[in-house]
Amino acid sequence: MFSIKNQAKQKFSWIALGWALLFFWFFSTALQAKIFISGYSGTNGLRDSLLYSSLWLIPVFLFPARTRIIAAVIGVVLWATSLAAICYFVIYGQEFSQSVLFVMFESNAGEAGEYLSQYFSLKIVLTALIYTAICLFLWSRLRPVYIPKPWRWLVSLIILYALILHPLVRNAINHQPLSKTVSGLSSRMEPAAPWQFISGYYQYRQQLDSLNSLLNENNALPPLANLKDENANTPRTLVLVIGESTQRGRMSLYGYSRETTPELDTLSKSDKGMTVFNDVVTSRPYTIEILQQALTFANEKNPDLYLSKPTLMNMMKQAGYKTFWITNQQTMTERNTMLTVFSRQTDKQFYMNQQRTQSAREYDSNVLAPFKDVLADPAPKKFIIVHLLGTHIKYKYRYPENWGKFDNQTTGIPAGLSDDQKEAWNDYDNANLYNDHVVSSLIKDYKATDPNGFLLYFSDHGEEVYDTPPHQMQGRNEENPTRHMYTVPFILWTSEKWQAEHPRDFSADVNRKYSSSELIHTWSDLAGLSYDGFDPTRSITSPEFKETTRWIGNPYKKNALIDYDTLPFGDQKGNQ
Ligand SMILES: [Zn+2]
Repeated sequence: MFSIKNQAKQKFSWIALGWALLFFWFFSTALQAKIFISGYSGTNGLRDSLLYSSLWLIPVFLFPARTRIIAAVIGVVLWATSLAAICYFVIYGQEFSQSVLFVMFESNAGEAGEYLSQYFSLKIVLTALIYTAICLFLWSRLRPVYIPKPWRWLVSLIILYALILHPLVRNAINHQPLSKTVSGLSSRMEPAAPWQFISGYYQYRQQLDSLNSLLNENNALPPLANLKDENANTPRTLVLVIGESTQRGRMSLYGYSRETTPELDTLSKSDKGMTVFNDVVTSRPYTIEILQQALTFANEKNPDLYLSKPTLMNMMKQAGYKTFWITNQQTMTERNTMLTVFSRQTDKQFYMNQQRTQSAREYDSNVLAPFKDVLADPAPKKFIIVHLLGTHIKYKYRYPENWGKFDNQTTGIPAGLSDDQKEAWNDYDNANLYNDHVVSSLIKDYKATDPNGFLLYFSDHGEEVYDTPPHQMQGRNEENPTRHMYTVPFILWTSEKWQAEHPRDFSADVNRKYSSSELIHTWSDLAGLSYDGFDPTRSITSPEFKETTRWIGNPYKKNALIDYDTLPFGDQKGNQ
């Protein structure tokens, strides 16, 4: 028996639904909208945060009479977690991601205290107050959303099915392992409060397990036999700079018509310590896959040696170097566990990029300050690896706004490209321009310490940016290889002190055909290291160098290896 008043009250109201949606969306979406508007990331985070915040409608639909209480309980949890993420964004200008959690779990109490002390700034207090006031206002507007009895269950089930059950069922049908489904789902839920904490912790535990087992295996490897260092205990600093997605053909240093590398151009003309190698290619067009070869004894014919033999980092440590890893790459993501393993093989790490996705705005100038700090470290023998984000997609996110030198230019762009493709072409050149600045700054900062040693820069792989006719391909694909995906810059800078001690003329070596998968032999040769397994015929700088087939392709696939030199010339000028 309902009174007329009660019946009116229990009518479905779109306005009530609107307020409920606004209330639950607000917590995660406020930050995602801010991130999107400020141009730091795409729309995926915004979309997922909207979708997964809608889950909270279910209890509100099911128990409309208790709307305020339910919303208050959920709201407090959402408010606390989202406020933490917002404060983090205000302080660091970065999204609170699982990598941040990773760093927090890993950092010692002192660093954590330092982190917390930064919360107490006026800006933070004001942000928190305004944010809380909006939350309270939205809560005060909440009214029950009455959906007639059988329908409210159906609507709730539909929401639950669409967001959670459907991915589970679909992957079960496709025989995907449950762990993959869970991690896929949790990465989509990550932008929505409070899931970033729950999924962050889950992913942290998973990665820690695989990380630790890989590190334990590496620790248990026997060291290199008969390791000798011809430089004995002479103080020195050696630097390896690893670039990202930078193909040679779009650098003026290698003859590109646009001036994309003015600083390296100048260095190569004015500094006799600079040697530019012209014909180095990568074996695989993917970061992890190539570094598993370049930084180890693995190559296309023996792809698993990265697990069973010491790595470059192990080798340098064994030779008595204090070793450092400075990276602007995302490190603590599932895909990048191997990068984290490599970095942990050094004595000290600097993780400068805590972004949740690779395509988020982050500049390589991040590495310059820690690089200077490490150069000042008192250890007599230092080995520094700097891993850049280089010219990785999204190209636009790799350089500050005032570096858009090639914006709206048309010269040198092949005919038939759409406006979006032209923009990508120009953005890639802008990214190269900024990469030139970062790499040159590293060389100059290193040079300024009057070091004894050398710096080697190479890009992990190239990138196809509509270069190859019919100019419609962008990115990298091992199944459909083009030369531009494989050609990489390879540059050596030696200091005056080093040249005096090691008078070597590289001018006859610069046109040698070389694969970066054999890098460890070049590095050993340059550093003066020898050991059982060192092969000078695989060092581009050795008088004993022998040219061999440069295999490319997936070594784990049957008959997939092909000779790089059989790839068709794709450049419009035909000169790649
Ligand atoms: Zn890469």
